[in-house]
Amino acid sequence: MNTLKLDLGADGVAIITINLPDRPVNVFTSAFVNDLQAAVEEVLTNVAIRGAVLTSGKSGFIAGADLKDLVDAFDQGIDAVQASHRFDRENAVMRRIETGGKPFVAALNGLALGGGLELALACHRRLLVNDPKAIVGLPEVTVGLLPAGGGTQRLPRLIGIEKALPLLIEGNTLKPAQALQLGIVDELVDVTGLLEQARRWVLDNPEASQPWDVKGYRIPGGAGCLAAHATRSFQFGTTLAKAAGAQNYPARLAILSAVFEGTQLPMDKALAVEAKYFGTLLANPVARNLMRTMFINKGAADKLVRRPVGPAKSTVHKLGVVGAGMMGAGIAYVSAAAGVQVMLLDTNADAAARGKDYSRRILDKAIERGTQTRDKADAILALIEPCSDYAAFDGCDLVIEAVFENREVKASVIGKTEAVLAPDAVFASNTSTLPITGLAECSKRPDHFIGLHFFSPVERMPLVEVIVGKKTSEQTIARALDFVGQLRKTPILVNDSPGFYTSRIFSTYTDEGMAMLAEGVNPALIENAARLASAATSPLAVTDEVSLDLQKSVIDQAHKDGLEEKFLRLHARPVVELMNFLGRLGRKSGGGFYEFPQGGKKHLWQGLAEHFPLAPQQPDVETVKDRLLYIQALETARCVEEGVLNDAADADLGSILGLGFPSWTGGTLSLIDTLGAQAFVTRCDELADAFGERFRPSVWLRARAERGERFHPRNDAA
Ligand code: NAD
Repeated sequence: MNTLKLDLGADGVAIITINLPDRPVNVFTSAFVNDLQAAVEEVLTNVAIRGAVLTSGKSGFIAGADLKDLVDAFDQGIDAVQASHRFDRENAVMRRIETGGKPFVAALNGLALGGGLELALACHRRLLVNDPKAIVGLPEVTVGLLPAGGGTQRLPRLIGIEKALPLLIEGNTLKPAQALQLGIVDELVDVTGLLEQARRWVLDNPEASQPWDVKGYRIPGGAGCLAAHATRSFQFGTTLAKAAGAQNYPARLAILSAVFEGTQLPMDKALAVEAKYFGTLLANPVARNLMRTMFINKGAADKLVRRPVGPAKSTVHKLGVVGAGMMGAGIAYVSAAAGVQVMLLDTNADAAARGKDYSRRILDKAIERGTQTRDKADAILALIEPCSDYAAFDGCDLVIEAVFENREVKASVIGKTEAVLAPDAVFASNTSTLPITGLAECSKRPDHFIGLHFFSPVERMPLVEVIVGKKTSEQTIARALDFVGQLRKTPILVNDSPGFYTSRIFSTYTDEGMAMLAEGVNPALIENAARLASAATSPLAVTDEVSLDLQKSVIDQAHKDGLEEKFLRLHARPVVELMNFLGRLGRKSGGGFYEFPQGGKKHLWQGLAEHFPLAPQQPDVETVKDRLLYIQALETARCVEEGVLNDAADADLGSILGLGFPSWTGGTLSLIDTLGAQAFVTRCDELADAFGERFRPSVWLRARAERGERFHPRNDAA
């Protein structure tokens, strides 16, 4: 047994300490389940043992299932029936714990999530250490699954369906005090007394059993459609599930069904119901996509998997930010919040001070909400120094420019900054469109020059696109990634090209929306199709947010620069021109595709009907959805073909975290893999025939499809 050890005390209480070797946290693995089974049998069959305490040798208890194993299971072709048996052994050992006749106590010395909490729920008593880091919860829904270790059955039996459902279908985690209040744990205990109190409970309760295994047990608040809360809880749950896109995220409805059906049955039958619904979810690509992109690959990106290994780890102590506008002010805030000293420079002291006010406003709101203290807020603000003299950049490890999107302005800023910058300091541009290699020509040290593309609003958007110019050195890449890690944001690494990756994909999305509008597709259909696909934004609404004059200047610049036709956005340009001509620039001008009535709800502008008359024949919603999603996936594939992207995980993460591409797809390249490259190419050809050559797949993509190549290689090992 190398994943746990069993120590038998003189009082007959066994302490089972879980501690998986070579793992930072405890997770359910096959070896662990074997060991747990053996330990539980030892407790139940050895007459010298009176009961057991389950605890962990790591700082947390158990973090849940090993998601990598579940991704592999999907990739190896598991079907719904096989998948429903995936946790049979885990469930059998948990039933042995609860029905074996001896008391088991979970002494939760740290966080207990997913399977970790489920194991605790199968114990007769739960003691949780009173430490804010010791969170508990069943977050499976967030990766497209349901808790399949009895969580959908034991939690409602313990605290009632009405309280359990929100936790199951939203997947929120709870702090110790909340867990106690809801009755999920029985006691909060100081860490020093944890084992002793658990041991005492075992000795005092030799006859422990679970309430739901006692004849006559009723679920608190009742179960089934006649329970007083049933209409409230299940209708509310179904509405919530549908609002969040039940057609794209099937886990919520599956959880509701498992709870509704299972809570009317005895425990063993209830577990079989849970297993059946779990099987349908694990065999569905949505869960694989969510686990792989949003958990495994995001985790790896956060740990800087793409960082060159050679250069030594670096830390930014002093940061310079040029331009205290929307982006610069946001970058200053997140950096100061991460403990970095920030010199925030603008053309004059007032403009720089206004940039600092942005942080003050964010912090004041946080204090009002109770999520920030005045002392900490003051400490963050003290780190930001507004200035207008470049001498302030003396001693900076990194300077980020976020001035107007204009090459001449940026060139002047680069020159002035480099005049005071230490030779080894890094200069980064937050440009969203100007190629980094071109900007680096204004620098005397292009090897120290890089793109750090933040998203707006900086304090809320988790992604940073790191753009590598032709001359950017490995050392500069490493230092830029270290800085993104310092901010606790997720970096993706992209090679230089017009629009890099995210801006390029973003414009295919907005442009497709505008092209459809010009063809006479009902704008409500365009916007609703995006919502039905669970995209974070709809194309016309988001264009109003970024503004149509900005779109015009980007398109005009592309024409002026003589870029290739594919970057000229010819199918969207007439709409952009017309909206500019009409003075409808978006939210900032009081209206664009939408009206923004004072104090009222925004709605599509009636005038669209006059300028973009509806075509007599409207497309079906699936076609509109396909156009919006496929054009982005196809452009991503082009970025891989052109070497803008080297890594499929970066493509997926960038599309979801930066652009709001629907997460159920796993991202743009996961979408192609999930559909199958051949099917994707065939559908793109149909769309190209009907709507334009921009949908035509390249020779390269066709050849890959014919060879059956995937962007994410499958782990086929049995
Ligand atoms: P903004 O207009 O809000 O702010 C620009 C700031 O730069 C202003 O405060 C201005 O006074 C200052 N500035 C201009 N010239 C200067 C100079 N020579 N020296 C010092 N300060 C100067 O613009 P923004 O939206 O914050 O965008 C800034 C940059 O970030 C642009 O390159 C833009 O493309 C990029 N970007 C913007 C977004 C976005 O959503 N707005 C997203 C990503 C990247």
